[in-house]
This record gives sequence, C-alpha cells and structure tokens, in this order.
Amino acid sequence: MANKKFSTNNLHLDRSAKPEHGAIHKPIHTSVAFGYEDARDLAAVFQGTKKGYAYSRQLNPTVTALQNKITEMEEGIATLAFSTGMAAIAATMLSLLRTGDHLIASSFLFANTRSFLSTLKGLGISVTLVDPTKSQNVESAITSHTVMIFVETIANPATQIADLSGIGVLCQKHNILYCVDNTLTTPYLFLPKTVKASLVINSLTKSIGGHGNALGGTITDTGLYDWRLFKNINKTDQNLDTSQWGITQIRKKGLRDMGASLSAESAHHLSIGSETLSLRLERACSNAMSFALFCNDHPSITKTFYPGLEDHPQHIRAAELFNSFGTLVSINLDNKVDCFEVLNNMTTIIASTNLGDNRTLGIPVAHTIFYELGSKQRKAMGIEQSMLRFAIGIENEKVLLDDLSQALAKAGDNNHD
Ligand SMILES: *Cc1c(COP(=O)(O)O)cnc(C)c1O
Repeated sequence: MANKKFSTNNLHLDRSAKPEHGAIHKPIHTSVAFGYEDARDLAAVFQGTKKGYAYSRQLNPTVTALQNKITEMEEGIATLAFSTGMAAIAATMLSLLRTGDHLIASSFLFANTRSFLSTLKGLGISVTLVDPTKSQNVESAITSHTVMIFVETIANPATQIADLSGIGVLCQKHNILYCVDNTLTTPYLFLPKTVKASLVINSLTKSIGGHGNALGGTITDTGLYDWRLFKNINKTDQNLDTSQWGITQIRKKGLRDMGASLSAESAHHLSIGSETLSLRLERACSNAMSFALFCNDHPSITKTFYPGLEDHPQHIRAAELFNSFGTLVSINLDNKVDCFEVLNNMTTIIASTNLGDNRTLGIPVAHTIFYELGSKQRKAMGIEQSMLRFAIGIENEKVLLDDLSQALAKAGDNNHD
C-alpha cells in the first residue's frame, strides 16, 4: 500500500538537495561532461573513491534526481534510469545473466519483453514461460540453473495477476533473483518489495510520466537480495559493500557499456509528471472501474477483463495486494460488431497504442501489439480477434462512457443495414 507521505516526499525531494538559487526543481543539466579544477579529483571519480559526475552516459545530475524519486517511491536502495522501459529490462538481463543460466518468465508478458527473451535464447540462456497466476507452475519450472524469475503485476491485455506473494516465497527459498515489472501498477498502487521482489522495473513512459511526452525506464534494487549468493558478479566489483554489487554491475555493463542513457530533458519531463501520479491514478482507476462495470453490462460486449470486477479470477488477490485495480480495461466484442468500426466511431477515445497517458487510448490488440505472435500463441494468451484494450485516462467519466456507448451503438446499427 502506498504510504501517506508518497506525494509529499516526491514533491519536496528536489528541494531537499538544495539546488542553486533556492530552485524548487532540479535544473536540467544538459552538460555531457563535467570539469574539475584538480585533475586528481577527476581520477578519484573514475576510480570510485570520490562521488561526482564525469560523463552523462553514466551519471547526470538531473537523471540522478529522478532516480532518487523512484528509489523513494519504491522504498528501495538504488535506481538506475534508462532511455526506455525496454532498455531497462534488456540492460538488466544482459548484465546479470550468462550462457547456461535459466530464466523463468510469465507467459503473459508485455509483447516486446517476450520478444526480447528470444534474443536471450539465442545467447544460450534458457527461458521457460509459465502461467504465473499459480505459484506451483513456477515452482515446477525451477531447475538448479534458474537464476531469475521475471513477472509483471497486471498482465496486458487480459489482466491476469501473478501470484506475486507465492513467487516471492519461492525465490527467497531458492535464492533466485525476483524481478517484478511494476509498470501497470506503479509504486502508488503496489510495492513489489512487500512480496520480496529483489529488482523492480518501471516504464516511466506510462503512468509515472503520465503525459505521453517522454520515454524512460528504471530498475530499482529493493535491497532484499543478498548479492553474495549471485554467481555472476564480476570479481572487480566485489570490493564494494555487498548491497551495491547488483546495481553496480547493471550500471557498468548495462548503462555505461550498452549506453541507452536517459536524457536530462526527458528526466525533467518524467520528474514533473511523477509529481501528480497519485492524483492522476486515483482519477484514472476510478474511471476504469466505471468503464469496466459499463462494459460488463453491455449486450455487444461478451467479456470484460478488469481486476476490479468481482468475477475476475484474481479479484481477491488484486484487492489484497493493490491500492486500486489499475487503468487497463479490455473487452471482447460480440461478433456482430467490428472492432475497427467501434474505434473509428469514437470521438474522445483515441485509436492509439501506449497506456498510462492522461488521455484514454483504445487499440485492437490482435491486429497490432500481438500481431507478430500468430493466432495460436494469441489464443494461448487469451487474446481474441475482436479484443479491444483501453488504457483509461483522466477525462470526465461520463464523457468516456457516452463515447463508448455511442460508438458501440453506431457500429451495431451499421451491421443491421
Ligand atoms: C510499455 C511497457 C514496457 C516498455 O516500456 P517502454 O518505455 O515503452 O520501453 C515494459 N513493460 C510493460 C509492462 C509495459 O507496459
């Protein structure tokens, strides 16, 4: 559950670091390099014996300020920011996994994460996909080579909810890194640390940034994992405090060497966006609940996917773990209405990908994000041809319901002509 100081801490964090002139925002530092009066200080920064900035690919003051905000929100110990959520995921896995390692991941992953896992397979890392709604499925996939389990909180688009607590217990028992992608819930709705996650991914592009105007992603170390038990830590980093081993390896390999750094301008946009996360989510989650209830009762809609509905298979789990049920609502349409026509009839809701934007967006899932997977795999993931996914925004609730209602009516009418 989000703590009482969630918004307040975020709003005052920049100021507490005392920026120049009494600024209440961290300035946008566009400098790529940082100069030193004494070259010995520059050497000390390189050698890690002194804190400071050298080159913005690795560390930039504006990006650091954002990283600190995410660490605070996730109640973790350290965060690294990347140019996108995918960059954060790819850099984390490529930095920590080696040929011969085994990774277990959810079979309902975000499509690009799933596609990235096939890149790992090409590097000799074996991957098993399991239905994570039951921790027994995860448990039976564990081998002596399993080093990481990767799951999301609410799956996209069919909103399955992993047995987050059960998997946490398994990871602890077997000393496996537990990586949770918190993008769909954000630290305002859920703290993966409370289910023993070791690492937390957030795509800042989505709800944390919230305005659809900047890409970014982070990895946060919750401080719960004992990195001395992880066999892939470079010897050269083992002189540091053990809590720093994982994040240091990701920083050096995943950020410094692979280079998908976040720009200072984007960090600023995302940081400003994050100030209103709690307000925006409260509105968007409440809109999503009304939207789902409306869909659930509509004769042209055969199925509504939303964890807030009482007949959702993991409704009770969601209610126990999350502050609210999120902003994603998916529907299957009756075969008499065409999904493209419904979207084309919308006047407020935009036919667009992305989620966590202030605006409500709708997308025909099988024809776009999950097109590449093919019909057999889509079926296994519970994705029908007629499925529409809505990422609910902060517009007026009645405007959204009216828009959906008239779009469905018009699409139905056309069919009877
Ligand atoms: C969007 C998304 C990502 C990737 O984030 P980008 O910033 O678009 O690269 C990863 N995981 C989930 C669950 C997402 O929704």
